[in-house]
Amino acid sequence: MPELPEVETVKCGLAPVMEGRAFEHVRLNRADIRFPFPYNFVERLQGVTLERLSRRAKFLVAELSSGETLLMHLGMSGSFIVGDRRAGQNPKHDHVVFTMSAIIPGADNPRIIYNDPRRFGFMELLEAGDLGRMVNLGPEPLSNSFNGPALYDKLTNKKAPIKSALLDQRVVAGLGNIYVCEALFGAHISPLRLSNTLSEDECEQLCAEIKSTLKLAIKAGGSTLQDFAAVDGVLGYFQHRFKVYDHAGHDCPAKTCAGTISRIKQSGRSSFYCDICQK
Ligand SMILES: [Zn+2]
Repeated sequence: MPELPEVETVKCGLAPVMEGRAFEHVRLNRADIRFPFPYNFVERLQGVTLERLSRRAKFLVAELSSGETLLMHLGMSGSFIVGDRRAGQNPKHDHVVFTMSAIIPGADNPRIIYNDPRRFGFMELLEAGDLGRMVNLGPEPLSNSFNGPALYDKLTNKKAPIKSALLDQRVVAGLGNIYVCEALFGAHISPLRLSNTLSEDECEQLCAEIKSTLKLAIKAGGSTLQDFAAVDGVLGYFQHRFKVYDHAGHDCPAKTCAGTISRIKQSGRSSFYCDICQK
C-alpha cells in the first residue's frame, strides 16, 4: 500500500506533466474503481486546467480551473504511469487515461494512466468549498502544526495504545502502519504504551522521529523518481529500507541492544518492535 512518502513522490512525478495543463482527453475504462466515478466525470474534466497539484495525508489534491477539486487516492495497489512505458503492469488494470494539453503548441501531450489491480483506489470531484469532507483529518505530520506540545495535548485523554493513536487520522493525517512502527522504534517507545502515559519529552521525540523518518523516505523516493521516470515511467512504489518493519526475528538494529524484533498484532495489524529498547 502506498504510504505518505510514496504519495508525495507520485505528486512530485505528476506535477510537471499535469500542472498548468488542461485535460485534453479523459478515458474511463470502467464505471467504478472502489466507488463509481463521479457523475459526468469526463465532461467535468475535459478542457479544464489543473492549476495546482498537492498532497493532503495520502490524497492527491488537484485544484481545477473550474473551481472543483479532483481528489485521487491510490488505495492498496494504485499507480500512475506516465507515457506508454510499463514494467510488468497489466494493461487490463488501466482504468483511467488522462491526456494533458501541450504547454506550447506542438510540444508533448503527456499521457497519464491510472493502473490499479485491486481497485481500492478512487477519484472524486469535490465542489468548491466541499473540502469540508477532509476537515476531520488531523495536522500534516511534516507541518509545523504537528509538534510535541500539540501531540501531547491530543494524547492526554487517550487510553488507546500509542500505535493505534498514531494511526488515527484525527491525531495526525496520513501516517500508515510502516512509518508508525519505524518512528516508535526511533523514539524508543513501545507500541503497547498507553497514549496518556507519554511524557511531553517523549511526545517531542516521537514527533521528531516521525518527521525524520518520513523525510528520509521522501528523499529516497525523490532519488528513485529519476530512476523510474527514466526506466519505466511507473509512479507509486519504491524500495524502502526499514529498521524494524517486516523484520521479525532479526537482531535489534540499535547498537546498544541485544534484543530481537518481535511481531505482535494490534487492532488486526502487525506491529514490529524491540521489547528491550522500546519501553
Ligand atoms: Zn532493541
